[in-house]
Amino acid sequence: MADSKHTNFKHIETKTIHAGKIRDEQFGALSTPIYQTSTFTFENVQQGANRFMGEEAGYIYGRLGNPTVRELEQRMAALESTEDAAAFGSGMGAVSATLLANLKNGDHLVASSALYGCSFSLINHIFADYGIEATFVDMTDEKAVRNAIKPNSKAIFFETPINPNLVVIDLQMVADIAKEHNLVSICDNTFMSPALQNPAEFGIDLIVHSATKYLNGHGDVIAGITCGSAEQIENIKLTTLKDMGAVMSPNDAWLIIRGLKTLSVRIERHCKNAQTVAEFLQAHPRIKKVDYPGLPSHQGYPLVGKQMKAAGGILAFEIKGNFDDAVYFMNSLKMCSIAVSLGDAESLIQHPASMTHSPYTEEELKAAGISQTLIRLSVGLEHVDDIIGDLSQALDKMNARIKQVG
Ligand SMILES: *Cc1c(COP(=O)(O)O)cnc(C)c1O
Repeated sequence: MADSKHTNFKHIETKTIHAGKIRDEQFGALSTPIYQTSTFTFENVQQGANRFMGEEAGYIYGRLGNPTVRELEQRMAALESTEDAAAFGSGMGAVSATLLANLKNGDHLVASSALYGCSFSLINHIFADYGIEATFVDMTDEKAVRNAIKPNSKAIFFETPINPNLVVIDLQMVADIAKEHNLVSICDNTFMSPALQNPAEFGIDLIVHSATKYLNGHGDVIAGITCGSAEQIENIKLTTLKDMGAVMSPNDAWLIIRGLKTLSVRIERHCKNAQTVAEFLQAHPRIKKVDYPGLPSHQGYPLVGKQMKAAGGILAFEIKGNFDDAVYFMNSLKMCSIAVSLGDAESLIQHPASMTHSPYTEEELKAAGISQTLIRLSVGLEHVDDIIGDLSQALDKMNARIKQVG
């Protein structure tokens, strides 16, 4: 096996297909084989010893590396314009191993006040129990970010756009503050994917992904990836990945490699459909507001075209009505699937107040800007008229019921 050069491709459409390809020299297979093996045999004891000493390149044991997984890591590094990448068994595997490789007892983390739910509970509960302190701050406010930094601060962690209201954080601002204060900056880029946003280009140190979402794109894998400098990735691989063990399976790596080949065409359609759906909803008399960075009324609009190539495939909207009306609307949908997760071919719709954010108290929901009738939609790849048709008929049904109930 030989690695093809993966730094030469300029365009994302080409990188998603060719970058970091591992050539099968034995048979010339176009599609990289799934190396479904737990361990790797050595020619003799000396070769085993050399590999353990790092004196000879080659594989040792599945938790320490696998060729199929390695191809995906190399491709993701090329896509995020970083030196290297590490693959994990889930997005949370990537988030936890990446944060823990950079934080120890007595350290302080600056974190965004709005985060993916499990990232928030990891930091707020587990890290707190292990003596890693955190300050949660509104990262749209530069002053607040600066004020949150302490002498023992080591890292800064955020995601953009933020779930579920799609609030956008300025990548350059965060990267600059992190550099000034010698903090490791870590951005969760799941919502945009490398097709729309490359945080490393703004100076962000580490980029984490739930590969479960757009990277794989077909709703059949749970996985994660972290991209960063060779030094950072080596450290993660030799510590929190190796010893905590949340590794990606070669079979899942192969599915993501396959999914990635269509990333740019999928993302283009997701964005186009989402823009059309957002405009339809905004004009609908039963909709109170639409959160989508592609609408001029949205907080993130000025950063579209600047740090994001387009506004993405996810939007949220509030219904004019109450909690029960929102539930009735959701239950009236015929095509959109009621499900958490995002970035799949299928349009996925969820109700944060009763699903992803159900552990929140009423005050916490208010503070996070999540109303009882807020609904999040991951706009799929179906024909946009069919998506709008489904939303429209469910809104009509809800409207008829509201009129009837009075
Ligand atoms: C889904 C998600 C995660 C967690 O990823 P898993 O693959 O489910 O572990 C982390 N961050 C964001 C923004 C996500 O959407």
